Amino acid sequence: MDLLNTLVNKGLRRESPTREEALAVLATSDDDLLDVVAAAGKVRRHWFGRRVKLNYLVNLKSGLCPEDCSYCSQRLGSKAEILKYTWLKPDQASQAAAAGVAGGAKRVCLVASGRGPTDRDVDRVSDTIKAIKEQNEAVEVCACLGLLSDGQAERLREAGADAYNHNLNTSEATYGDITTTHTYADRVDTVNKAHAAGLSACSGLIAGMGESDEDLVDVVFSLRELDPDSVPVNFLIPMEGTPLAKEWHLTPQRCLRILAMTRFVCPDVEVRIAGGREVHLRTMQPLALHLANSIFLGDYLTSEGQAGRADLEMIADAGFEVEGAGEVTLPEHRVADRGGCGSHGEGAGCGSHGEGGGCGSAHEGGSLCGSAPAEKGAGAVPAVAGEPRTDLVAVRRRGAGTDLAPNA
Ligand code: SF4
Repeated sequence: MDLLNTLVNKGLRRESPTREEALAVLATSDDDLLDVVAAAGKVRRHWFGRRVKLNYLVNLKSGLCPEDCSYCSQRLGSKAEILKYTWLKPDQASQAAAAGVAGGAKRVCLVASGRGPTDRDVDRVSDTIKAIKEQNEAVEVCACLGLLSDGQAERLREAGADAYNHNLNTSEATYGDITTTHTYADRVDTVNKAHAAGLSACSGLIAGMGESDEDLVDVVFSLRELDPDSVPVNFLIPMEGTPLAKEWHLTPQRCLRILAMTRFVCPDVEVRIAGGREVHLRTMQPLALHLANSIFLGDYLTSEGQAGRADLEMIADAGFEVEGAGEVTLPEHRVADRGGCGSHGEGAGCGSHGEGGGCGSAHEGGSLCGSAPAEKGAGAVPAVAGEPRTDLVAVRRRGAGTDLAPNA
């Protein structure tokens, strides 16, 4: 296909596709899907080889947010029965982080619900970052605390943070439809503050909220312009108790096209499959590794992911390898652009402030998504793509904020 040859050549040159080309990727037919994956896979392998970076989420403060992001189970008025707790202490957070690192994660993403941190909150998170780095100096830390005020990014950087995550989530045109308590411009401002402070910027999107192809292309092009080091791609988990609970639009094929389009537009950036991987890609997850070079290990903020062991098995079975602590994630030119420090030059971070994530296997030690219903003893599994798969969504009940061991 001429389109795909053009996109591969542009991706290898770090050249942007046109909007029309990006839209054409989203409009490809199922018959062409493997060609699309193979083409975007060439770009992925050129810049990132067969490495998969593992990131681990620690939800420092869960629920009770005054903001009204419609996709978020932690929002104002959410009826979702998620864990709700206030700030973890530094030693509790570093213990949770250590479990992720022991499971193979090289980056820990410290996330807290809320509009943005107070200066006291920045102190708390700074203490937590120090506690994590005291245990393991090599671990990368990304903070995801909402909108930043002047000077806060610098303070996090001084405390040892490597990166800051704040997602654009959707196009500027539709932003007001999903959130009314802050603006798209507020979000852009925070990503710019992180950049300016020398933090590696991480900013991504959520697909599946009823947006059009044009909206998806808009947000990915806006992200390219913001130039983050990493772009998490979330697939909406329509959690019961949130306004978007009935928005089941995604199919595994659609998710693969979205990831391929993101790879073509952001060829040399860490593209991470974030929340919704198990729920929407389901048994197609291994194919998505040909497009993204990064995933979250284990659970998400408020929902459970498949067992960490299943993540590792999937990577190995698909012929990929977990990126080691000593390996630099980003291509050389991006590291050099960021001042030459491999660690600070790298992307990644939290999937989504408020997420996000869900799970196939609700049980400890469970296996891949597809087997979860059988484990639960449920009989029929909906076989029609695009049908609601509430059977694959499980609220997180283990790890941070509980007495149970984390999934890592
Ligand atoms: S995404 Fe963040 S700011 Fe928005 S409701 Fe959720 S926790 Fe609050």
